Amino acid sequence: MPTFPPNALFAVAHLIARRMGSNEAEAQRVADHLVRANLSGHDSHGVGMLPAYVQMLKDGLLVPNQTPETVLDAGALLVIDARRGYGQRMAAEAVERAIERAKELGACVLALRNSAHIGRIGTYGEQATAAGCAFTAFVNVADIWPQQAPWASADGRVGTNPFCAAVPGTDGPALLLDMATTTIAAGKARVAYNKGVPVPDGALIDAHGAPTNDPTGFIRDRTGALLSFGRHKGSGLAVMCEIMAAAVGGGQRADQDAKGGVVNSMLATVIDLSKLGDPAAIAQGIEATKTHIRAARVAPGFEQILLPGEPERRSAARRKAEGIEVDATTWHDIRAAAETLGVTRAEIDQAAAG
Ligand code: NAD
Repeated sequence: MPTFPPNALFAVAHLIARRMGSNEAEAQRVADHLVRANLSGHDSHGVGMLPAYVQMLKDGLLVPNQTPETVLDAGALLVIDARRGYGQRMAAEAVERAIERAKELGACVLALRNSAHIGRIGTYGEQATAAGCAFTAFVNVADIWPQQAPWASADGRVGTNPFCAAVPGTDGPALLLDMATTTIAAGKARVAYNKGVPVPDGALIDAHGAPTNDPTGFIRDRTGALLSFGRHKGSGLAVMCEIMAAAVGGGQRADQDAKGGVVNSMLATVIDLSKLGDPAAIAQGIEATKTHIRAARVAPGFEQILLPGEPERRSAARRKAEGIEVDATTWHDIRAAAETLGVTRAEIDQAAAG
C-alpha cells in the first residue's frame, strides 16, 4: 500500500483543490482538513474524498470560493447559508465567527446551512476547544440518497448524521466525541469496498432489509442502508440530528429532492468556558472525571479503557511518525480525478514525493 508523509498528502490535496478553482487560502484549509482526518485515523474523511469532490464540482454541486450568506445575525444567534461552498472552509469560517461571538456574549448558537460536505466534524470541535470553548454539533446529511435505515425500517431515510461534543483540556481537547450515528460511517463502507474486505456485523442491510457484511451493493449499486449504532437510541439521535440541523436550523432536509451531491447542515453551540465559570476549575473537573473513569477495572476481553478522542490522538502520533497509508484503489481514484482537471501524472507524482 502506498504510504505518504503528511506533507506529501497535503501537497497532493492542495494541488487538486487549486485546480478545482479554490484560491490559495481555501486550498490550504481543505488540504489541511483532509490530512488531519487521515492523521486521526478517519481515512473515510481524508484525501480519499477528493474524487467525490471533483465529481461534485463537475456536477455544479460544490462551489469553490463561495461567499456565504449571513441569514441572521442576532446576538447569540448566527444563521449562515453556505450555498454549497467548499465545506471545510465554510464550516471552519462559520465556527470562527461563532467562537468570536461566544467570546463576546458567553455563548453562540450557530446554524450553518447547505454546505458542501464539511468532512470530519471533530475538526470544528478542536477549533472551538483550542479557543477555550465547549462545542456541540448536530449535523445532517442531505442531497445524497438516504443512507441510514432508522430503527425497524428496511429503507434508508436519513443520512449518517454525525454528532460531536468537545471540551477543552490542559493539553488540547480533553474529550472529543465525534461520531456518525450509523455503526460505521458511509466512507468506511467505501474504504472496505475499495480494500475488498467485509464490513462488521450489524453495520449494513441489503436491498431486502436483511443483514449483510458485503458493501458491494451499498457502494456500487446504492442499494441497502447502514444501520444506526445502539439500536433505537442511535436511531433516535440520527433523527434528531436531521431535525436540529435541517428542520430547525433551516438546512436542506433528507426528504427534499436530492441532486446527488453531499450537503451538510449543522446546528452547533459554542460556549466560552471563561464566561461560564472558572476555566481552571472546569478543567480540574474534567481531569477528575477522566481519572475516575480510567481507574475502573478493565473488562474481560478488553486491553484498556480509552476516552473519546484518544484513539484519534494516538493514530495522529503514529501516522506522523510512520506515514499515512492510502489503499491502492483510493490512490488510483485520486490520480484519475486529478487527471480530469488537467493535472498531469508528473505533477501528482512530484507533489506526492513531498
Ligand atoms: P469512530 O466510530 O471511529 O469513533 C467515534 C467516537 O468514539 C470517537 O469520538 C472516538 O474517539 C471514540 N472511540 C473510538 N474507539 C473508542 C474506544 N475504544 N474507546 C473509547 N472511545 C472510542 O467514528 P465514526 O462514527 O466512524 O465517524 C468517523 C468520522 O466520520 C467522524 O470524524 C465524523 O465526523 C465523520 N462523519 C462525517 C459526516 C459528514 O457528513 N460530514 C457524516 C458521518 C460521519
